[in-house]
Amino acid sequence: MAERVIPLVDQRISGLAAPRPVQPIPATGQLADRLHRPLRDLRISVTDRCNFRCSYCMPKEVFDKDYPYLPHADLLSFEEITRLARQFVAHGVRKIRLTGGEPLLRKNIEILIAQLAQLRTVDGQPVELALTTNGSLLARKARALREAGLQRVTVSLDGLDDTVFRRMNDVDFPVAQVLEGIAAAREAGLGPVKVNMVVKRGTNEHEILPMAQHFRGTGTVLRFIEYMDVGATNGWRMDEVLPSAEVVQRLHAAFPLRALEPAAPGETAERWAYEDGAGEVGVISSVTQAFCGSCNRARLSTEGKLYLCLFASQGWDLRALLRGGAGDEEIASAVGAIWHQRGDRYSELRGQVPPDAGGARRRVEMSYIGG
Ligand code: SF4
Repeated sequence: MAERVIPLVDQRISGLAAPRPVQPIPATGQLADRLHRPLRDLRISVTDRCNFRCSYCMPKEVFDKDYPYLPHADLLSFEEITRLARQFVAHGVRKIRLTGGEPLLRKNIEILIAQLAQLRTVDGQPVELALTTNGSLLARKARALREAGLQRVTVSLDGLDDTVFRRMNDVDFPVAQVLEGIAAAREAGLGPVKVNMVVKRGTNEHEILPMAQHFRGTGTVLRFIEYMDVGATNGWRMDEVLPSAEVVQRLHAAFPLRALEPAAPGETAERWAYEDGAGEVGVISSVTQAFCGSCNRARLSTEGKLYLCLFASQGWDLRALLRGGAGDEEIASAVGAIWHQRGDRYSELRGQVPPDAGGARRRVEMSYIGG
């Protein structure tokens, strides 16, 4: 069993000062990074807390009762989040995804959703609003989220077998309640609901076919995610990765598939349709089939740091600008300058950069900036 690493350097404390470009960078919606990738997708983490302890994300040994979670005063307020989001939208963002930790733990999140639902893209369209959740609170909240303006949810579910699922969430949470949440989301019109299953070889790969069987023909889109070396605490090993190509092979042997085109530029999932018309299934293959070339995603941490990659080690402190009295143009200019110099493509370079778990290049935790 790989040794878990207790974090030595807390990325949440160290951050890069947001630039104040001499030549302001106006928000025109045409922003591109050094690899000519536009800024289209903003993921906003609204809490660093979660009620699950999935070992590939928030292992219990690290995220225990003594773990120093962020004090509430450090978190961006809903007004601050909306103000920042407005600058990103002016730079071309069309889709906002709320994440965490577990976003439904953030009190009154419906208020934030209602604020974000007012935002319009550069061509006047409503911004696409989605949320990723572990589903534990969804049955209770689905209708209110929809009424506040949320359009879609993605639910993380790593197995149907209750024993397997309870072991993977590591808080003994029953699978039935998550399935109720998925049903409530469908009923509330938060669809098409997507379900993400992280596949860990030797742990839950035998759940691939039962999950496919369960969600086929329901309109819910199931995606299998390769187990990733996110953060520095999950003890990741390559031999615990089940490549997506193998997942597709197993599915195809049981339920013949045909390939589908990506639904949108920068989409992370490779899409497949069941030949018999029972819907769609997907795979997300950050380890074996990197998709950095079209990555148009920025991530905002719970207390206002901008990260340019899921595997980044440092973020730019936008909260200091917000709370330091900067105007909207100055904030937009800073966002523009940061994205403009972006060259991140970790998954393409995986294995070429020597690991540095405890040092400055330690990767930030997924539970802090959202998946
Ligand atoms: S590894 Fe980073 S740059 Fe590549 S797709 Fe993922 S988030 Fe984007």
